[in-house]
Formats: sequence, structure tokens, C-alpha cells
Amino acid sequence: MSNQVDVLAMAREQLAVAANYLDLDKGLHSVLAQPMRQLIVHFPVVLDNGEVQVFEGYRVQHNSARGPTKGGIRYHPHVDVHETTALAMWMTWKCAVVNIPYGGAKGAVKVDTKQLSRREIEKLTRRYVTEINIVLGERSDIPAPDIGTNAQTMAWIMDTFSMQHGHTVPGCVTGKPIEMGGSQGRVEATGRGVIVAAEEAARFIGMNFNGARVIVQGFGNVGSIAAKIAEENGAIIVGISDAIGGIYNGKGLPVRELVERYSGREGGIRGYKDAQQVSNSELLEMDCDILIPAAISGQITRENADKVKARLVIEGANGPCTLDADRIFADKGVFLVPDILANAGGVIVSYFEWVQDLQNFFWEENEVNGKLTKIMKHSFAAVEASMRTHKTDMRTAALIIGVKRVADATVRRGIFP
Ligand code: NAD
Repeated sequence: MSNQVDVLAMAREQLAVAANYLDLDKGLHSVLAQPMRQLIVHFPVVLDNGEVQVFEGYRVQHNSARGPTKGGIRYHPHVDVHETTALAMWMTWKCAVVNIPYGGAKGAVKVDTKQLSRREIEKLTRRYVTEINIVLGERSDIPAPDIGTNAQTMAWIMDTFSMQHGHTVPGCVTGKPIEMGGSQGRVEATGRGVIVAAEEAARFIGMNFNGARVIVQGFGNVGSIAAKIAEENGAIIVGISDAIGGIYNGKGLPVRELVERYSGREGGIRGYKDAQQVSNSELLEMDCDILIPAAISGQITRENADKVKARLVIEGANGPCTLDADRIFADKGVFLVPDILANAGGVIVSYFEWVQDLQNFFWEENEVNGKLTKIMKHSFAAVEASMRTHKTDMRTAALIIGVKRVADATVRRGIFP
């Protein structure tokens, strides 16, 4: 699902760059380059018309040196085990960069949910979780939402897992609805964190966030919330898109209204008439100050990076820019905040949700948002410092911190037995 970009090769190349800076031991490097566990499952679902369809799913755990593994579950027709492995690896670095006590994992099912009814998606979810149940657990591996899944999916996961264990286990999954152990602020967390990163980056390059013109690619959970919070904080959203296409108006789009009317309705935003209709790829090249790719991976490559007009690129999605794009941005003076920092807000508040579930003690939204903002700012400052120390770009600086923390934990624990 990534424009033919080999994201696992990309993730491994990023690791190699950081390993080089850290002068990482060869054996340790090879441990970190591989996932510790890849589970591939095939499972049947009886469709509403009585036919049986077999689906393929994965759960990949990359590394658990710093704690239980953590990562979203994606429902999309073009997922595969390699992409899922890359996403699990990025989760490991992300949790380490923001210093929360988790390793990285990711799950996926190859499915086009638009072809299924709600009942079929529920059955698919319950059976998929049953198949991967052997590697899940509140102390071992904790899923969360990603592309194509949401709080309702997490509710079915929690219920299925709990039924199989004979008691309610709220901490087995995060991103749940509030009424069954979810956290205040989790739905908005990734988008909110993306905007904290954007504001910090604007400050760093001397750009005024207030009045900055922003384009957001993707209008799902991350993109729509990021656009909404950016507008609340004074930015002007000039372009947005979803899988079907985008809209652009240099004077600004009414984001709140567009979110209320069209969020989650694929193609819906194109119903808004007071804007220029553009293709997804055209939108990335339109005039703006800040570009937030918040859809899928492999969107900005050597083919189009040169045409990006933004001075700031904030990676809301995982892996939206390739390493070639990074190099072109560096040459052009475009400042990029990498995914493993920019979109960490989701896993940070997932961590808060898990802590609240384990303690059966729930926090108010202000407390959640305050703690999230504090961790995002603190992590940004740490990456900024690493960038100065190592005289490198932000992605490499963040990877250096993340990889070092995981490598140090691995060395301290020792290689078993
Ligand atoms: P989502 O399913 O809620 O939304 C995805 C959006 O992307 C939809 O609007 C869809 O129409 C759009 N899209 C799909 N293909 C596109 C294309 N080719 N061009 C433009 N838009 C396209 O998913 P989400 O949870 O918002 O996740 C978006 C990205 O953010 C993913 O890369 C995901 O891994 C990453 N992410 C999500 C979270 C989270 O908490 N949900 C956390 C960290 C990172």
C-alpha cells in the first residue's frame, strides 16, 4: 500500500544509518534488523450471503527489550508481512524516542473493509484476534487502532480476548471507547501530537505557526484531527485530501465544518465546492508553508520531493517520505520532523490508557493532554539536541536516540541464555 516503495528495506537502511553513527556492534545490529516474531494466519469468515472467505493476517513483534510490544492493527487490501515488519520496527524506535516502556509490534489483515458489512467486519476481527491470541496479552503485546480500524474494532478485540480468558482484560488493547476502559484524549492524541511537533518545528526554523498555511494529506483519524487542532491554534488549512482526491483553497478551508460533514466518508470532501479539486499527488505540490502527510507510506519520493513547496514537512503517517526524499529536502532546506517523533502522540496516550486500565484509575482530559504535550515537547528538545550533537537531520537524530535506547537495554539484559 505504499506506491511500490519497499518500506522494510527503507526501515533497515534507516537503522543502518543510525548504527553507523552509534558504531553499533555488528551482532547487535543484526538483532535489531530482524523482528523477534512474525505470525502469519489464514482464517475463514462466513459472509452474510453464507459464503466462506479466507483472509490473511499478521502480527509482527519486532523487539521487546524495553517492555511489552505495542502497535496498531491495520485493515487494508494491500498490506503484507514485509510492510507490517517495517511498521513494527518503527514502533520500537518510536516508543524508545519518546521514552515509554514498550517495544514495537504491528498487525494487519489483507482486506477491503468497504466490501464487508459491519457484522462481517466484527466476525473477521473476532476470528483474527482468536488466531493471534497466542502472542497477545496486557503484559506481552498490546494492539491499538491504525488505518481501517477504530475504537469499535478495539472494543471487539477487548471483548474477544476477555471471553477467551474468562475475565475482563481492559489493558489487552488501547484506543478503546471511553465506556469500557478507553482514555480521554486518545482519539485526538496522534493529531494533537502532530501539531505539537509542527509548532515546535516552526519555532525551531523561525516560522510563525499562527497564520502558517498548511496542507494535510489524509482525512482519517490523524489527518482530520491534526487539521482541526492546527486551525484552532491559528494556522490556515489550505488543502486536504483523502484516498479519492483533494481540495485546495489558498485563502483557507472551513476545517471544522469539513470534519463534521465528511470525516470518515471516503471522497466526501470533494463535495465541498468553494475549492479547487486536485488529485492526491497534485495536492502535495501545491503552495503552502507546512505539509502534513497523514495517510499512507511512500507518498513523497525522488519523483516529487523536489516539487514540494512547504518549508516544513511533519510526518503524521508512518513512512510517507523515502530516504531519497529526505536527501532532496536536506538539499532544498526543507525541515522534516520524522514519523517516529511526529506521530508518537498516539502511542503516548495509548500508554496512558494502559496505565489507567492496569490501575483502574482514570484521568481527566486536561491531565492526559497536558502529559502528552509535555512528553512531545521534551522528546522534540531531546531530538533537537541530538541533531546538534551529531550534526545531522532530525530523522537520523531521532533514530540515534531510539536505536541507542533499545541497544543499551538489549546489552544490559544480555542475550539469553
Ligand atoms: P484512517 O484509516 O483513519 O485514515 C486514513 C486516511 O488516509 C483516510 O482519509 C484515507 O482516505 C486516506 N488515504 C488512504 N490512501 C490515501 C492516498 N493514497 N492519498 C491520500 N489519502 C489517502 O487512518 P489513520 O489512523 O488516520 O492513520 C493514518 C496514518 O497515520 C497511517 O500511516 C498510520 O499508520 C499513521 N498513524 C496512525 C496513528 C493512530 O493513532 N491512528 C498513530 C500513529 C501513526
